[in-house]
Amino acid sequence: MNTKELFLKLLSYKSITPDDAGSLDFIEKYMSGFSALRVDSNDTKNLLLYKEFGRGEHLCFAGHVDVVPPGDGWSSDPFEPLNKDGYIYARGTQDMKSGVCAFLQACKKATNFRGILSIVLTSDEEGDGKFGTIEVLKYLKSRDFLPDFAIVAEPTCTEVFGDTIKIGRRGSINGVIEVFGKQGHAAYPEKSTNTINLISPLLDKLTGHNFDIGDENFAPSQLVVTDIRSGMEVTNVTPGYLKLMFNVRNSTKTDKNDIEDYINRLFDGLNFKLTLFQGAKPFVTSRD
Ligand SMILES: [Zn+2]
Repeated sequence: MNTKELFLKLLSYKSITPDDAGSLDFIEKYMSGFSALRVDSNDTKNLLLYKEFGRGEHLCFAGHVDVVPPGDGWSSDPFEPLNKDGYIYARGTQDMKSGVCAFLQACKKATNFRGILSIVLTSDEEGDGKFGTIEVLKYLKSRDFLPDFAIVAEPTCTEVFGDTIKIGRRGSINGVIEVFGKQGHAAYPEKSTNTINLISPLLDKLTGHNFDIGDENFAPSQLVVTDIRSGMEVTNVTPGYLKLMFNVRNSTKTDKNDIEDYINRLFDGLNFKLTLFQGAKPFVTSRD
């Protein structure tokens, strides 16, 4: 199989998280020169492939075969790749069957390498990811086989393939702010505490706020408001409750406490409740 044929084959698997749809069986057979180990956990399928070329360091390529559901609006079958005008259309072309295809083919063709080449593939990266790569890493650690270096082939390029290499990853913190007021009739605003009025003067200090200025590895950690709801979808009742949701993709310069402090200061004096959920934590590795 050439690289394009392999790519089209991978795209044809309906591997919606956490179902690998048989793609890992295919990959295991395709990479016949590599030893294979399955580290499945709960409903997540994980495949570890490795080949020892000689003494030296252990380089691992990591990726996922699962994709998010295709949703509506497709003009062709999302799992029947369409080759049109120089582009290939299917669910997962970019994130990340192209990256997976590239490193599978490169590893398959590798004839000499000073050390060990390995590949870690999971069927749950787009979902909770609780039983994916982390389970394989635990397994590798228990066997004293953790890689020295890892390349994650997630799409990061901005213009053309290979123009960007990131040496870390941002964290993710989700937040919910609930504001409590007093519902009333639109005709008598002075008798109510309208939660939309309460947050209006604060919004421009909240939405788009940068917690840091970023650095050579990360963009600024920005607060992105994702949802605001309040009221009853009527024109004559003023709302007494408001719920606002946001996300911060944070760099190593900003953490959960910074976000908590900022919002507590900004909302000081209001009756509100802030709930923060820590997702992935940011990290950066050495450039050397
Ligand atoms: Zn991805």
